[in-house]
Amino acid sequence: MTTTHSFDALILGGGAAGLMCAIEAGKHGRRVAVLEHADRLGKKILISGGGRCNFTNIQCRPENFLSANPHFAKSALARYTPADFITMIEKYRIPYHEKTLGQLFCDRSARDVLTMLEEECRRAHVSIFPGTKVREVTRPAQFVVHASDAEFQAPALVVATGGLSISKIGATRFGYDLARQFGINIQEPRPGLVPFVLNADDRSRYCDLAGVSMEVTACCDGARFREKLLITHRGLSGPAILQVSSYWDKSRPVQIDLLPNHETSSTVMDPKLPRNLTNLRSQLRTMLPNRFADRWLDLHPASAWTNSALAQWEQQAHAWTITPADTEGFEKAEVTVGGIDTDELSAKTMESRKMPGLYFIGEVVDVTGHLGGYNFQWAWASGAAAGRAL
Ligand SMILES: Cc1cc2nc3c(=O)[nH]c(=O)nc-3n(C[C@H](O)[C@H](O)[C@H](O)COP(=O)(O)OP(=O)(O)OC[C@H]3O[C@@H](n4cnc5c(N)ncnc54)[C@H](O)[C@@H]3O)c2cc1C
Repeated sequence: MTTTHSFDALILGGGAAGLMCAIEAGKHGRRVAVLEHADRLGKKILISGGGRCNFTNIQCRPENFLSANPHFAKSALARYTPADFITMIEKYRIPYHEKTLGQLFCDRSARDVLTMLEEECRRAHVSIFPGTKVREVTRPAQFVVHASDAEFQAPALVVATGGLSISKIGATRFGYDLARQFGINIQEPRPGLVPFVLNADDRSRYCDLAGVSMEVTACCDGARFREKLLITHRGLSGPAILQVSSYWDKSRPVQIDLLPNHETSSTVMDPKLPRNLTNLRSQLRTMLPNRFADRWLDLHPASAWTNSALAQWEQQAHAWTITPADTEGFEKAEVTVGGIDTDELSAKTMESRKMPGLYFIGEVVDVTGHLGGYNFQWAWASGAAAGRAL
């Protein structure tokens, strides 16, 4: 006979958002269960930030998030801030540091963050069910989650099953399928914070320089990021590229300023030097890595040595336009852009407008952060918003 467990709320997915939601609900006296299909909780937390978990960003603002409705995230982000998460980190005496641009990382290991969340769950009397394979969700009166060897029922169900990136550590389409089952609209998911694959021509031009990196400004669809670009064996990566990839779709070009420190068009040639290829090369080598500077000059020779020809030549380096063939896909993506349409949800509680008692939080929702700790901040904030409302 199948055992039936009854709770005040069931949370599907024991990642960042699900655990935060469980902690907040548990602290408010709710009897909550986290149902996780993997053998353990928080696998993505453990691999995040290169194993050090970039757990928040102290410069977090609503502008750091993409969504079909850019206002949706504001309420939750305002009610659970980076300072709130830092308070918890400090309560557990977890050593951390600011790496760059407001990004906070653990000094030791991402495991510190997961251990803290597990301990908070324990203190809030949260029941955890790892290795729970959910077969079906029905709603005869309450929500009933049918798992392989047990049933769970509750008046509230929180979907915190994350996005599609990195299926080998547990990502599934489950959250989107469940939304469709209940007639809830989704914005088509696509990979974000993901390297680009260049088209065949550009690959043959640049990819033998794999490993070369430089500071650039990358732009796509109105978004602009000044960070590092890295050439890879198949295309481009590095923070600047990962950031613009979230704004990219197949029809859009990406524009890269290779000389972001040299805004004016007269700087590239030192006026004291004779104008010739050797001097242009040595000037360019002061601004770009040598191998890339040489390649750029081979592919973009100066047509003449007049002021206007040089200005035009320099302009090309300020506006290198590429049209990637593709991205490296969900298996290399750090996040999923798109997801549960925010028009379907209350911005205050994350509850479905159509289906009372059904909540969506974290990456499964159409809110995607920039690179730099913003995605965890959204997971914490949306998880806390729902957890307090349960
Ligand atoms: C390599 C990598 C590094 C990253 N580093 C950072 C970083 O440093 N800083 C940052 O802010 N963001 C980072 N991110 C993004 C961040 O990890 C996610 O945005 C965040 O984990 C989303 O939280 P979530 O709870 O919504 O989803 P997840 O953390 O993905 O949790 C979802 C959980 O649901 C479970 N699940 C899925 N399907 C089911 C199902 N059918 N039944 C039951 N359980 C299910 C999964 O196993 C998982 O445990 C990184 C992502 C990757 C891939």
